[in-house]
Amino acid sequence: MIRKKVLVTGGAGFVGSHLCDRLLKEGNEVVCLDNYFTGQKQNIVHLLNNPYFELIRHDVTMPFFIEVDEIYNLACPASPVHYQYNAIKTIKTSVMGAVNMLGLAKRIRARILQASTSEVYGDPQVHPQVETYWGHVNPIGDRACYDEGKRAAETLFVNYHKQNNVKIKIVRIFNTYGPRMHPNDGRVVSNFIVQALQNKDITVYGDGQQTRSFQYVDDLVEGMIRLMASREDFTGPVNIGNPNEFTILELAEKVIKLTGSKSKIVRMPLPANDPMQRRPDITLAKKELDWQPGIQLNEGLMKTIDYFRSVI
Ligand code: NAD
Ligand code: UDP
Repeated sequence: MIRKKVLVTGGAGFVGSHLCDRLLKEGNEVVCLDNYFTGQKQNIVHLLNNPYFELIRHDVTMPFFIEVDEIYNLACPASPVHYQYNAIKTIKTSVMGAVNMLGLAKRIRARILQASTSEVYGDPQVHPQVETYWGHVNPIGDRACYDEGKRAAETLFVNYHKQNNVKIKIVRIFNTYGPRMHPNDGRVVSNFIVQALQNKDITVYGDGQQTRSFQYVDDLVEGMIRLMASREDFTGPVNIGNPNEFTILELAEKVIKLTGSKSKIVRMPLPANDPMQRRPDITLAKKELDWQPGIQLNEGLMKTIDYFRSVI
């Protein structure tokens, strides 16, 4: 077995911590870099005694030097509430983070994977979303700091590949949930589960007819590992998500049922530029990575509910 040295930026976050677990389980050495904006030590505390795990507090907007074989660039707040809290910092994290990590990858000839997002499709007018769709993003809207930051990061990745032969991979991640989401994260799955477990009102924004397609975190990590290991000339972007689509109202009802909660559904205003529909076309991931999600919503929600029961 070859032990690779892998850098995970945003490694103390929700997805990053699961990725660190998986990389270590496969016998790699992992360096986890995070500034703890939305991540927490709690997510990786179980790894601190592992001699092959290293934790570094660092902000990706500043240059960083290290020798590794692979880089997973996940550092960026992902919840709309958090990424809008300091919009300028969010776009700086995506763009300057990409420049710094790509510069590093170029110098040390490492493979580098960018955690991009379904938000590059904005409020999509093509449904389901295929990778060839250019998207429908408001460049001056409330979500632009995140959407445009991730779009610019994709542009940087593609051009470092074309101009400097950097070995890049771009994954467009669709809504992902699971254990270690922050209870106050603000995203819909964690909000609804926390509200249901506390028998508080379930806050459905708008009429609840907007749709999302929810993927369990283990499926995402499997997709990311496969993408990193894919043939060198396959750069992506590739969608990784679960194509089963639900309205937000359906999700609320499911969470109430699975938790046995007494919560009532209440309506709140729909945030500006909230995409009306979202579902990945995963034909490309199936073909290139032989990947498809294995955990469906009821099973994944039960695991996530068990987790939140233990932390709140
Ligand atoms: P998260 O907020 O839990 O994790 C992000 C991590 O990045 C946190 O640990 C945070 O502290 C760290 N971070 C933020 N800014 C940083 C900076 N400037 N320097 C260093 N570290 C910084 O979110 P997540 O759900 O784990 O998302 C991980 C990645 O996946 C993000 O890039 C996100 O855009 C992408 N993504 C996630 C989803 C999803 O549904 N979870 C969907 C699409 C894309
Ligand atoms: N949403 C909701 N109630 C909440 C949180 C979110 O109805 O308490 C809605 C939100 O308006 C959006 C969907 O759920 O339509 C998904 O929101 P999330 O913030 O999880 O992610 P997004 O896909 O919008 O980035």
